[in-house]
Amino acid sequence: GYKRVLEENRKLYNQVQDLKGNIRVYCRVRPQFGGQSNGLSCVDNIEDRTITVLAPTKNGKEGRKSFTFNKIFSPSATQAEVFSDTQPLIRSVLDGYNVCIFAYGQTGSGKTHTMSGPKELTEEGLGVNYRALGDLFEISNQRKETISYEILVQMLEIYNEQVKDLLATDDIRNSSQNGINVPDANLVRVSSTSDVMNLMNLGQKNRTVFSTAMNDRSSRSHSCLTVHVQGKDLTSGNVFHGSMHLVDLAGSERVDKSEVTGDRLKEAQHINKSLAALGDVIASLASKSSHVPYRNSKLTQLLQDSLGGQAKTLMFVHIAPEYEAHGETLSTLKFAERVATVELGAAKVNKDGAEVKELKDQIASLKAALAAAK
Ligand code: ADP
Ligand code: MG
Repeated sequence: GYKRVLEENRKLYNQVQDLKGNIRVYCRVRPQFGGQSNGLSCVDNIEDRTITVLAPTKNGKEGRKSFTFNKIFSPSATQAEVFSDTQPLIRSVLDGYNVCIFAYGQTGSGKTHTMSGPKELTEEGLGVNYRALGDLFEISNQRKETISYEILVQMLEIYNEQVKDLLATDDIRNSSQNGINVPDANLVRVSSTSDVMNLMNLGQKNRTVFSTAMNDRSSRSHSCLTVHVQGKDLTSGNVFHGSMHLVDLAGSERVDKSEVTGDRLKEAQHINKSLAALGDVIASLASKSSHVPYRNSKLTQLLQDSLGGQAKTLMFVHIAPEYEAHGETLSTLKFAERVATVELGAAKVNKDGAEVKELKDQIASLKAALAAAK
């Protein structure tokens, strides 16, 4: 009885998860900084799934526009809260799924904060990257009687459509030169969170070295931490693989072409092109289009086998709430709406809404049965 109830419960839970689809969009609003806007905000209202922003019209009239996503994190959301909604996705990597997590938004909107954390890292401040790996170690350890896992990481930077290995160094041990989709990149075996810390520091240092020639290159390049998991079922001997790409994207701000020239213009064009390519790929996956245009950028080529099919995608869309950011905020939300729109289309929401509710009710009654059976 008891065991069956547990199993039922898990099955229903998975069904609820599946109904949500393979593409998710979460929006995170950064706390407001002082500055020029005198405390004025371009964010009008935040609900669980809907955000309303100011969208002044051309004739200067104040307008508003609402956007609906899978989840909105308000400025008070902690790193732990943001992670806890991401955790089931991350855990699926250990079951052999491919997962891509992106941080999108204009420079200064909080992408690196979400993925890595603030500059002065504290335990609470740890971002999704660190928490994800910590979680993978913990769970793989819990399963060690039945499955033996090997976890490897790779760190790349894409700048002007060129891929650089952030772990390129002589003093890395345990590394093979068979990177994921980048054959000569270092793929390094890790077995503890301190291994991960060391590698991230190394990657960060290399990134800084690359950027000395140019201030703040990091906001104009994509950085991609890839975690590769190999699991071996100790009973059957079967081997399976899962992978997770954690991508801190280049700043999405539109650059005024009349104001920049030379290298700066080239950069802006590369960024626009690759973010547009990413948007196109996700939008065509969301609409279940037969042609997915992976080949239009290095980033989408690199992630091709982890986008679409059974793979799961999560985009964290970051919003800067200051009033003067309203133009960028609106364009960021429009980008996000485009990649999320089909999953959240009105008809589907209603249908899923009813199904999800029904399943949730069943879970509640099973939980009651479980409590009674104990
Ligand atoms: P981006 O990577 O998008 O350019 P950052 O993550 O560097 O932006 O964030 C810009 C600044 O705002 C950093 O100083 C960062 O620590 C701070 N910040 C961003 N998001 C938050 C947040 N949710 N809570 C507190 N501080 C944040
Ligand atoms: Mg950043």
